[in-house]
Amino acid sequence: MDGMLRKILPKETPAKKLQKEIKATEFKKQSLLSAVQTEIREAAGKRDGILRQIGRIVYERRDGGGLPEETFAAHFAEIGALDTQIGEKEVKSAEIGARYDEELLLLKAQLAALDASPPVEAPSFCGHCGQKFTPGVDIFCSECGQKAE
Ligand SMILES: [Zn+2]
Repeated sequence: MDGMLRKILPKETPAKKLQKEIKATEFKKQSLLSAVQTEIREAAGKRDGILRQIGRIVYERRDGGGLPEETFAAHFAEIGALDTQIGEKEVKSAEIGARYDEELLLLKAQLAALDASPPVEAPSFCGHCGQKFTPGVDIFCSECGQKAE
């Protein structure tokens, strides 16, 4: 059948392609961010656990017996390491957000530019009689009634 007529069938426009890409980019951003957020929550949970241990030790020795300085030193070091980890992951999270926001801004600007200047559709013609079609609108030829397919 006439190749011209095939143009009226729905196909992926550049705008649709960009919208898909924007959705995929947003999805990727969200999944990367939620992975980092999970890591941060895990590290914070470990830190809280150590703080509870320290509290228990202090409580159990409230009637004397002295505080185990070495155990405390080890716990404090663990907390320090976890705080560093959490700080690094928060930086990473901000970087991911910024990187993907920038990409999304670019994609959305491209999409806006497309919307501002819609592509001029090439005219399609009936394969039977040559009558002009409006792509995406006409299903049958207005002149001879031939199905546009
Ligand atoms: Zn026709």
